[in-house]
Amino acid sequence: MFGRQKGISLSNWILIGMILGMATGLILNFFVPDSFFKNIILVDNVFYLGGNLFIKLMKMLVVPLVFCSIVVGASSISDIRKIGTIGGRTILIYLITTALAVTIALGIGMLIKPGVGLNMAVTSQAGNVTLNQTMTDTILNMVPDNPLNSLASGDMIPVIIFGLLIGVILAKLREETDVINTFFNQGNRIMMEMTSIVMKFAPIGIFCLMARTFAGLGFDGLLPLGKYISCVLLGLAIQAFIVYPFLLVIFTRLNPITFFKKFISVMFFAFSSSTSNATIPLNLEKLAEMGVSKDVSSFTIPLGATINMDGTSIMQGVAVMFAAQAYGMDLGTSALLTVIFTAVMASIGTAGVPSVGLITLTMVFNSVGIPVQAIGIIFGIDHILDMFRTAVNVAGDAICTIIVAFKNNSMDVDVFKGKKEMNEEDKVLVDEISII
Ligand code: ASP
Repeated sequence: MFGRQKGISLSNWILIGMILGMATGLILNFFVPDSFFKNIILVDNVFYLGGNLFIKLMKMLVVPLVFCSIVVGASSISDIRKIGTIGGRTILIYLITTALAVTIALGIGMLIKPGVGLNMAVTSQAGNVTLNQTMTDTILNMVPDNPLNSLASGDMIPVIIFGLLIGVILAKLREETDVINTFFNQGNRIMMEMTSIVMKFAPIGIFCLMARTFAGLGFDGLLPLGKYISCVLLGLAIQAFIVYPFLLVIFTRLNPITFFKKFISVMFFAFSSSTSNATIPLNLEKLAEMGVSKDVSSFTIPLGATINMDGTSIMQGVAVMFAAQAYGMDLGTSALLTVIFTAVMASIGTAGVPSVGLITLTMVFNSVGIPVQAIGIIFGIDHILDMFRTAVNVAGDAICTIIVAFKNNSMDVDVFKGKKEMNEEDKVLVDEISII
């Protein structure tokens, strides 16, 4: 529907849809008196239908997309046995940095309260949802009674657990389960393609969601959106410029400024392409220039581009607080822990391509009962945040890689410090990568 054919990219169409939708809603709210046509025909039928059709299409993707991607991700994670402790360490650091990222985001959301004032109950049917599950219930509910039921009802945590188990077993049985392995890989490919088709309808869906929301809220809706953007950017800045340098110094005593000087071009590339996957070759090249052995980076960077998304998790953490506040929901400790767990899993289930973080956000919302309609509000401005968060995603992969390589004695610190040229073998790697 909307694509590059007319010279305007899809993300720009989405932005246009958002701005036009906001403007239409604000005009309706301020200048058009209430009438049957405005309230019933336009707002409650046309905009409602357009917006919710799009949301339903997104929801349709979530279970198969996340399930296939978790199975495929887990089966590749298990390949790590072949490189022993490096694999275990890498995954551990990836998971810890992601959990830290969500926690920071939730903290920022609690402090700045971006969603307060956006009374979402006004624009949707969602009522207050109370979340008083106990910790024991939360843990018990992670294991599916019947995986097919969980899949059918979109109960994401049990779906993830089941998917992880299948993935690990597939990796263990290898040739014996080739057919099923191919099935999930192809399923994953199909879901990625379906996602890009659904995304083509995003500009219209976003237009309708924005118009309906702002017709109800008027200018009161703008401030929370601005606050949401600031919270995400703040979280990303903390992760990139405080957490990562801190980890680098603590674990390696290397200078973070030297790192950023060498790495900034990779972040710019990730920023402008919004995809961790496409950034893999450049990331590998820069790490080789920093003295990291290819034996480590050629494993950890592609893995990180698939399972380590700290920037995406920050967006998801802030979005959870934003939406919960907008709906007047009180998230207790066990709900917050569920969010942290689901966001870490969502990070594994998010492919390193543009906008997928928004799809997996539905699963984080579902895990604590937040209505996914709230995603409509943040959808329009997501592309710009996607650019920033992808830059943080790739920086996270590189920092973890340096730590792992350093601890494994697979890093030439003199090359990092610029006292020595990288070795010939790694130069060959860089040349090969540049050809790709
Ligand atoms: N664009 C992100 C990446 O490729 C994923 C996302 O957050 O949508 O790393």
